[in-house]
Amino acid sequence: MPLYEYVCQDCQVTFEVLAPMGETVAECPNCRSADTRRCPSMTHFRHADHWQKDMMGALGRSQERDQQKRESKRA
Ligand SMILES: [Zn+2]
Repeated sequence: MPLYEYVCQDCQVTFEVLAPMGETVAECPNCRSADTRRCPSMTHFRHADHWQKDMMGALGRSQERDQQKRESKRA
């Protein structure tokens, strides 16, 4: 059975469910709501997003350091 990622429309919690093909209804484990949506490729996107955030974070930090260096020279 494929592993699907769902997001609860009520509490925005994401959870993974082993669901049979075609099964689209899953109950939120957090608030028991049935108002959930399936995100078939969320897992893939989530990993890419994390990687991107890490990269952006590293870039942002090094830029910040450069700026601080420049400013301390100016001072
Ligand atoms: Zn919920």
